[in-house]
Amino acid sequence: MFDILKKIILMIAILTLGACSNSNAIDIKETLIIDSSNFIVEKKNEDTVTVNASIIINYTKDELMGRVVPKNDTNFSIIEKEHTSKSKIYLRKEAYSAFCRMYDAANKDGFKLNIISAFRSNYHQQLIWESKWIGKRKVNGQNLSLQVKDEVERAKIILQYSSMPGSSRHHWGTDVDIYSLENSTFESGYGLKIYSWLQKHAAEYGFYQVYTAGRSVGYNEEKWHWSYLPIAKPMLDAYKNNISTDDFKGFKGSNTAKEIGIIDNYVLGINMECLNKLELGIDN
Ligand SMILES: [Zn+2]
Repeated sequence: MFDILKKIILMIAILTLGACSNSNAIDIKETLIIDSSNFIVEKKNEDTVTVNASIIINYTKDELMGRVVPKNDTNFSIIEKEHTSKSKIYLRKEAYSAFCRMYDAANKDGFKLNIISAFRSNYHQQLIWESKWIGKRKVNGQNLSLQVKDEVERAKIILQYSSMPGSSRHHWGTDVDIYSLENSTFESGYGLKIYSWLQKHAAEYGFYQVYTAGRSVGYNEEKWHWSYLPIAKPMLDAYKNNISTDDFKGFKGSNTAKEIGIIDNYVLGINMECLNKLELGIDN
C-alpha cells in the first residue's frame, strides 16, 4: 500500500516539477509543498527526477503540541459513528482513511475496532492532568495534592496513567485507542482476539503499537493504543527537532518537565523497533 502511496506522491512531484522547471537547468533543487510536507526534489538532467528519501515535514509547534482545532482544520476528518462510540472526535485525514480500510478488514474477520479516543487537544490533556495534580481526581486511590508533596514525584505518578500536556501522541491526530483502556481486557476472550488480529494485521494498514511491554522508559504498556506511523513518524522527527522542555509551560506541574526528561524518556520512550519496520516496509 505504501508503495502505491509513494508512487502517487512521486508522480505528483514529477508532474509539478515538469510544469514549473526550467528545461535548461541541470542539477537544480526545488522544494515542492504537497499536503503540508516538503519533498526535496532533485532534477539531475532533463529526464531524471529523484525524490530524496528523507521527507522534511513542516509541522508547526502548535500542531506538534496539540494546539489545533480539528473541526476548523482541513487536515482533519470527523470520525463516523460507525467507527466510534464517542461523538465529535477527529483524526488526520490520511490516518482516518487508513483506519477505515483496517476497520473494514477486521469487520470481515468478525471484529469491531471501535475507536474510544483519537485526537486530543493540549487543553483537554491539561484538564485531565491538572484534575489529578490538584487532587480533584484521585490517582490509584491517592489525592496527590495532599499525599505527594514532591512535585517531580507527583508528576511521575500521574505519568503512569496520563500524559503530560504537550507530550501526548493524541495531539497529532495520528493515534487511536481501540476497544478498551485496560490491558487485561486484551488478555482473554474477545479482547484477546481483537489484540491478536491487530498484532497480525495492523501494520498492513500503517498502524503500530508504540507503547509495548518491556521498554525501560516511558508510558506503561497500552495494548489499545495504535499509531499511524506514516504520519506519526515524521511528526516525531519534527518534534525532536523543534520542541524542547522549555515549550512545556502554562499548566500546573509544567516546571517538572525538564527534570523528568519528558521528551527523551516519554515522547521518545516508544517501541523504536516499529519505526525500523516501517522504514524497511515490513508488515509484521
Ligand atoms: Zn492512547
